Amino acid sequence: VAAGMLVGSLAACSTERDSGTDAGGGDDEGTFVGIAMPTKSLERWNRDGSHLEGLLEEAGYETSLQYADNKVDQQITQLENMINQGADVLVIAPIDDTALAPTLQQAADADITVIAYDRLLLGTPNVDYYATFDNYSVGTMQGEYIVDALDLEGGAGPFNLEPFAGSPDDNNAKFFFAGAWDILSEYVDSGQLVVPSGKAPATNDDWKSIGVEGWKTDTAQAEMEIRLNSFYASGTKVDVVLSPNDSLALGIAQALAGNGYAPGAEYPIVTGQDADKANVLNLIEGKQSMTVWKDTRTLGDQVAVMIKQIVAGDTVEVNDEKTYDNGEKVVPTYLLPPQVVTPDSVDVLVESGFYKAADLGL
Ligand code: BGC
Repeated sequence: VAAGMLVGSLAACSTERDSGTDAGGGDDEGTFVGIAMPTKSLERWNRDGSHLEGLLEEAGYETSLQYADNKVDQQITQLENMINQGADVLVIAPIDDTALAPTLQQAADADITVIAYDRLLLGTPNVDYYATFDNYSVGTMQGEYIVDALDLEGGAGPFNLEPFAGSPDDNNAKFFFAGAWDILSEYVDSGQLVVPSGKAPATNDDWKSIGVEGWKTDTAQAEMEIRLNSFYASGTKVDVVLSPNDSLALGIAQALAGNGYAPGAEYPIVTGQDADKANVLNLIEGKQSMTVWKDTRTLGDQVAVMIKQIVAGDTVEVNDEKTYDNGEKVVPTYLLPPQVVTPDSVDVLVESGFYKAADLGL
């Protein structure tokens, strides 16, 4: 098929579709990739979506990039539209990990290849591949940072810890918590870490009891305020907050500020994930201790490679075929490495081109 040929018939069926050129996907209609992202409210998903869309358009594919405002019904409607428009491949970062199973059956009936993007799709055989960062490692990096910063291995303590977990409907949140708790729970058991609020899950499987629905900043702030007001009122200080990601860390930092915690020696350790701009600024200002950076450009790059392999009928490259059991199957996965960023290493975000120095006021 001639490169550069326009795909008139497909492009005409929806104004939402960006027409590209024919990628030679085996028919005359080119390759159409639907990208379903959860929300624009967290910075990373905006970067994820636009980077992947750009790569696919460069490759000559048609794309439709949709954000669903964290609303499950909206995401289902968007996916149904993509299926009806003749998508060849769907790239999905689900809002709710189990809610899409019926929609994915429709996709399978239409012979669409489905890639779970960053978050796994659960309870369905109709997911072909998964590309993500090593989610368990994100948690161990947060746990290990805390162990080192407090010298827990050297026997220091006791320190007051408040743990948080991510959204109960996000399979990643389970891995983040398990990674962190596998490191930290031995120090809870030894008494070096004390949880004044009592909100310490007895086992990894109980993480949902401290999960923050929808990864909401406001909810994390309100929860941290309740804990501070109820369990720290008598002058007790919190020493460390395990926050699974940056959206929660922002709310936690706001609650700390409202309670009179100012950056400095007494400020608690606060963990995070994503290297969102507001959080990198908080790192620089001493309001957050670390973040786990996932260079989302590398995830988009890998997914674009997967799609090219799918379109060409080649073997799709994966590097993990044991970890991600979705209840129906073990989904072949490509795992990328996350990386710790601290106030001393924010330069790496600029050197890699993830941010411009000016974005960070550097
Ligand atoms: C992602 C994190 C993100 C969180 C909230 C998770 O599934 O892996 O990077 O912080 O969702 O959007």
